[in-house]
Amino acid sequence: MLQDERLGNTRLWICRLDLLAGPATGNKWFKLLPNLRYAQSQGIRRVASFGGVWSNHLDALARAGAAFGLSTVGFVRGYADQPLTPMLRDARAQGMELVFLSRSDYRRRNDPQFLASLCSQYPETYWVPEGGSNCQGVAGCRLLGEELGEELGKLAVSNQIDKVALACGTGGSLAGIAQGLAECGAAKAVGYAVLKPGDFLREAVREYQQQAGGVRDNWSIVTDYHGGGYARCGPELQQFIEDFYLRHKIPLDPLYTGKLMWGLFQDIALGKYAGEGVLALHTGGLQGLRGYPDLLANLTEMGFQGL
Ligand SMILES: *Cc1c(COP(=O)(O)O)cnc(C)c1O
Repeated sequence: MLQDERLGNTRLWICRLDLLAGPATGNKWFKLLPNLRYAQSQGIRRVASFGGVWSNHLDALARAGAAFGLSTVGFVRGYADQPLTPMLRDARAQGMELVFLSRSDYRRRNDPQFLASLCSQYPETYWVPEGGSNCQGVAGCRLLGEELGEELGKLAVSNQIDKVALACGTGGSLAGIAQGLAECGAAKAVGYAVLKPGDFLREAVREYQQQAGGVRDNWSIVTDYHGGGYARCGPELQQFIEDFYLRHKIPLDPLYTGKLMWGLFQDIALGKYAGEGVLALHTGGLQGLRGYPDLLANLTEMGFQGL
């Protein structure tokens, strides 16, 4: 349990999926695992997907694909004539083939006609959507939710967890984790949207659940803490992350886990979790700190290592 005077009578725990031992960490590993197993079972040797130049998903795909002995292709939003980000350099070092799409082509990443033309250029390839949120990805998160639910069920009554909170991008992780939690125990899932506007997520999560395993009603979404939009990290959020590291020695990234904790602490101050036990999922993504050199330098000065 986190010791922090700002918590009042809310009990807060953090589940560190960023510390998993394995080729990849965080929620992206849980989403990719069933996808890669499926590709392997079909005898497909190549996996392709989409992402930005700091994508946690492409980072995880490059690592996990290499561990599975699969070749990987990353379709990257941006132009080839810009220098590679450290994330893209790592991905290439893992053997990922990088293909740069213009922003207008990238926008068509889910357009069937555009995908068909990519498929003809890359035959015998298993395609994973951006972020890994397909049926397999949701199913992987459901397994994670079931495991969490089982563990939470073993806790003493005094340590009961009422809510499991996580950051939401596409909502695929929330969809699966909520399904898994519904199987065992009473904890509800709360997603904190990192995009602006985040309202599309309610429909998106319902759709993910409909396509994979069935709709549940044990989840909700908070849309107040996008901090200006995806990948925006204003001074307030940066300061929160630095202060959080100073207090707890737990590193947060500004895109997902930082926004989750920042929002959660504001909601706790508002009394939204009064008397409750909350488990916050640290879904990983720390490599993305490299896109925020100022913040990373300050954290490193405080003793953060491991990138
Ligand atoms: C991708 C990502 C999320 C969001 O997952 P979704 O399933 O897209 O909602 C949360 N945290 C981290 C660290 C991520 O990389």
